[in-house]
Order: sequence, then structure tokens, then C-alpha cells
Amino acid sequence: MITVTFPDGNQRAYEPGTTAMDVAKSISHGLARNILSGSYDGQTIELNDALTHDGTLQFFTWNDSKGKEAFWHSSAHVLAQAILHFYPDAKLTIGPAIEKGFYYDVDFGEQSIGEGDFAKIEQQMLEFARAKSEFKLRSVTKAEALKAYRDNPFKTELISNLEDGNITFCDHADFTDLCRGGHLPHTGYIKAVKIMNVAGAYWRGDENNPQLTRVYGVSFQKAGQLKEYLELLEEAKKRDHRKLGKELELFTFSQRVGQGLPLWLPKGAALRERLENFLKRAQKKAGYSGVITPHIGNKELYVCSGHYEKYGKDSFQPIHTPEEGEEYLLKPMNCPHHCELYKATPKSYKDLPVRFAEFGTVYRYEQSGELHGLTRVRGFTQDDAHIFCTPNQLKDEFKNVIDLVLYIFKTLDFTDYTAQVSLRDPNKPEKYIGSDENWEKAESAIIEAAEEKNLNTIVEYGEAAFYGPKLDFMVKDALGRSWQLGTIQVDYNLPERFELEYKGSDNESHRPVMIHRAPFGSMERFVAVLLEHCGGNFPLWLTPEQVKILPVSEKYNDYAKEIAEFLEFSDIRALVDERNEKIGRKIRDAEVTKIPFMLIVGEKEATSGELSVRRHGEGDLGTMTREDFVKSIEDEISQLID
Ligand SMILES: [Zn+2]
Ligand SMILES: [Zn+2]
Repeated sequence: MITVTFPDGNQRAYEPGTTAMDVAKSISHGLARNILSGSYDGQTIELNDALTHDGTLQFFTWNDSKGKEAFWHSSAHVLAQAILHFYPDAKLTIGPAIEKGFYYDVDFGEQSIGEGDFAKIEQQMLEFARAKSEFKLRSVTKAEALKAYRDNPFKTELISNLEDGNITFCDHADFTDLCRGGHLPHTGYIKAVKIMNVAGAYWRGDENNPQLTRVYGVSFQKAGQLKEYLELLEEAKKRDHRKLGKELELFTFSQRVGQGLPLWLPKGAALRERLENFLKRAQKKAGYSGVITPHIGNKELYVCSGHYEKYGKDSFQPIHTPEEGEEYLLKPMNCPHHCELYKATPKSYKDLPVRFAEFGTVYRYEQSGELHGLTRVRGFTQDDAHIFCTPNQLKDEFKNVIDLVLYIFKTLDFTDYTAQVSLRDPNKPEKYIGSDENWEKAESAIIEAAEEKNLNTIVEYGEAAFYGPKLDFMVKDALGRSWQLGTIQVDYNLPERFELEYKGSDNESHRPVMIHRAPFGSMERFVAVLLEHCGGNFPLWLTPEQVKILPVSEKYNDYAKEIAEFLEFSDIRALVDERNEKIGRKIRDAEVTKIPFMLIVGEKEATSGELSVRRHGEGDLGTMTREDFVKSIEDEISQLID
């Protein structure tokens, strides 16, 4: 008998040769129906494979990324099968699962494939899927593999780089592919398929190599899931921050200024300023001191910090000065500058913690293909801060930063988030710098701080940076997409490299611990996430224009301006639509720009002195006095910001 251990520690004995699927069935038929793939002792397995030795068995369902990966990777095989059905001369290369779906890179030779071909491929895939063909992994020798693919230079290249004895083929129906494994039990699991698009892709991502056609697809267990997914995509398109940024006149790009260098229009700049002021106020309360550092730094600064090694090669070229041999670089990170600030005066334990905050603009050279709206840019402003403290202060500092991050999430209506704690790989202590004692102190400080703040936490071993453990927040937006926002990172490396010190109560010199933290990450990325999360309907306190006053005719323009002045005086951002347009048109236009409140001004309002109020997306709210209107806005805002 073999002993199979489950992730919860339970153990069961089975006959050798029992398959993972049999094990699932022996536990419950519900489980057996739901599982898509599995691992044995951490290695991906096929659910139909026999288990021959003791080990730990883990099952994956649609709710696990590994379950989806097996589903989508298996779908890529079926896609390739369908492609060969219609294009027998096509040469297959690779077909992995990706974050949403899968692709296959294909050399179609003289032929080509376009949108008009998608439907027939989808139908053929479903027909193949319905056959419930089992996926079976089979070992082959290198010679056999090379022979099987003698007409396919791509697969030949892949096989040449594999070790003999380590090569497997995957068969299903009459289709075979070179593959490492990790499949569904059979094709019948695939019930809904959509070819999303095709794009050009170079073999192995190298532009000197032949160009292939990348066919993207997605597949699901039920037709309903596909429908939901496509609707979500539609909604995401509407909320694309690049589209909304243009419509709401927040930011723009200019090829002449340069790729990946955003230009903030007045409304966007004002929005950003409000975000910055909001965070500055919160940071001031939390004991941060603002600092300002330049946009460039001497090359030696970044050699000292180690950033030159990391960013130097692929970065912007050095800036030379008339001084022989002197080189400056655009700042890739604010941290080295803040280390030098720390050193400006001698520190004692009584001065700690020191908390330096700066909206620091940094520059990193990203490949032009990787630039994307505001989420991947070449110049961006971090809401950066560095905390220098003693090892014993780490926990309290973490709790303070967590409070700040949660306050921001609450104010900006991010309600669904989890925290990930990244710790050392306990089996590879040599990978990390800093003493064991300090690491243990920091790791338990983070875990305790997260517990005391009631965070929903996932602990990941081996995910820490070599210089320290960290805590990241993962936020789900209104469309259920995950974004990483808010990082708190411990660092033992920079204090060492910059020889930072403080005098302890024992009168000896000690190294402080450094914490990097950025609740927004960068202003650019944060505004992008926020735009897509709220679909352009910013919270009332943040939105560029809070009130639009709509006179029913030009006769009431002056009265409307008087109300606008009254509101401005109460710190409410109001505009008058003075155009000679019908009131219905003015309301429709104001709705499109997502302005939260509309005030309609006509004869009745001018005589009574009251306001006729409409709310975006809600409609008519009736009449109220100016004072009550101001108070209702102030109350709504103070519920979020206090
Ligand atoms: Zn495969
Ligand atoms: Zn930093």
C-alpha cells in the first residue's frame, strides 16, 4: 500500500497504481467532478496517472490558478488540433496558458488566418472536445522526438534543448504534441470556446527570427461563463483608463514629447493635486516629514545603492557634464537620495523613527512594446516614503503604514482586498542578506501587525526580496480584476551599503532598518486603476467638477453665476453651462461628463431662491435651499475623509 497525504495533513492508504482521479472519487464524487488537475509532492501530475509511491497530493479546481492553467493549456492542444484540421501544412510551435485563456504560435506558411476563420475553428474545437478524448502523456527518446518533428524546425529547436530521457509527448484523439504535462483528464471538460484575436509574434520573441501568428483563445466549463466573461470585457473596454482619460480630459500623450511620458491636462493635474494633498494630510498626521530631492543623481550614488547594476544597462543613457568623466543618471528610485538625507545629521535612537516622504518622480526605460497608458510609463511619480527605525520599532511602523493604506482604500471605495506577506525560503537562507535574528524579528513583526489589523492575509514563502520581507496589498476592482496596490518593504541592504547609523542607548553605533512604502504605488498607475474601478465616476471629494449649473435660458445665466460663486465660496467646484442650448441637451451633456450634481435654474428657482437638484445616475432630488445643498455635500464628503 502507499500512503497519500493531503494538504490538511490527513492521510489515506491506497493500492499502488491507483490514479489521482480514483483517490478523488474515493473521497467524494463532488470533488472528483470539480477537480481539473493536481500535483504530487509539488510536481504537476496527470489525474489519470498511477500513483506509485508515498507522497502529498493536492487537487486544483477552477478556483485555483493551477486548475485554470490546466484547463487553458489543454484547450491550446485542442486549438492546435483544430488548426491542423483546417491548415494541415501549418507548423506548430508553442501553446501555453496565459492569465486569461491561452494562445498558440503557429507558422501558417503561405496561408493566413483572420477573423472570418474564427467561427469554424471554434465549432471544430467544440466538436473535438465533445469526443471526450483522454489526454495521455508518453515518454519518448530524443531521437524519436526529433524524427517525429523532422519537418518542423521550431519543435526541432525546442527538442534539441531538452535532455534525453526527459522528453514527453501528449496524445489526445489522433493529435500529438510535444508537452511537459499538466492536463485535464479529457477534452470533454471544455464546453465553451472563443477565439479572441490573432497577432504577429516572433519566434522566441526575437525580431531576427521568423514571424509567427499568435492565435489567442479562451475557454470555459459552461457557456454561461463565456457569456459573462465577454460582457465583462465589454465593460472593461468602456472603462479603459486611456479612453476615459481622454473623454474626461485628464491626461494625454505626445509623440513629440516622447513615448511613455504622460502629460497631465488641467483637470487631471487638479485631480492629482487633490490626491496628493489628501495623502500629504494623512501622512502629516502619521508623523511623516516631507522632503524634496532632484530628478537626477551622480552615477556613483546609484553604483553605491546597487541600482546602477539593476537599471543601468537598460536605462536611459548617462547625462555627461563638461567635467571629464562625470556622469549623471535620471533617478530610477528615490531611496538612495533619502539615505543621503538620513546621513545629513547624526542620529540617536531618540530620533528614530525618521519618516521621509516625497512625491518623487522617477524614470525607467521600458521597452516601447511594454508601454501601456498610465500603467506602464517611462516617467512616473511615486508616493514614496522611507522609514528608518530600530528593529524593535518595525511592528509599530508596519501597523501605522497598514492603517494609512486601509484609510486610503476606504476613502476611495476599494472594499475587496487581501494582503500578501512575502517571507524567506526557509531552505535557502544563503540567498538573503542580513542576520537570521533580524529576519525572524521582521517576519514575525509583519505577521503580527497584519493579524492585529485583522487583514485577510496569505503567507508566501520564498517570495521575499533578497534584502527583506514585505507586505503587499492586492485589491479587486469593480470588475473583479486584481491589482497590486500598496507595498511595505523591509530593507537591510541599503542601510548597509550607505553605512547608515544611529547611536543606541548603549552609546554604541547601530544600523537602522529601512522600510520602503508607497500606498498608491505611483500617481500614474493609481489614477489608472481608480479610473477603471469607478468607471470615471470619481468619489465626490475627488471629482474634477462637483456641480454643473444649468440655466434653462440665457436670461438666468447671471443668477446661475451668482450660485456658482456662492458654492465656490464654500469650497465646492461648480461650473455654469452658459451655452444657448435646450435644457434637455444640457442635462444629457452633463450626464456624459459624469458630474455628480446638476442644478437647474429657471424662473421658479430665481423667484423662490431654492435650488432644483439632479444627481448623476439618480435623477431629480427635488428642491432645497443653497445652505442645505452645501451641507449635504459637506456631510457626504466628511463621511469619507475625516
Ligand atoms: Zn500539454
Ligand atoms: Zn525605496
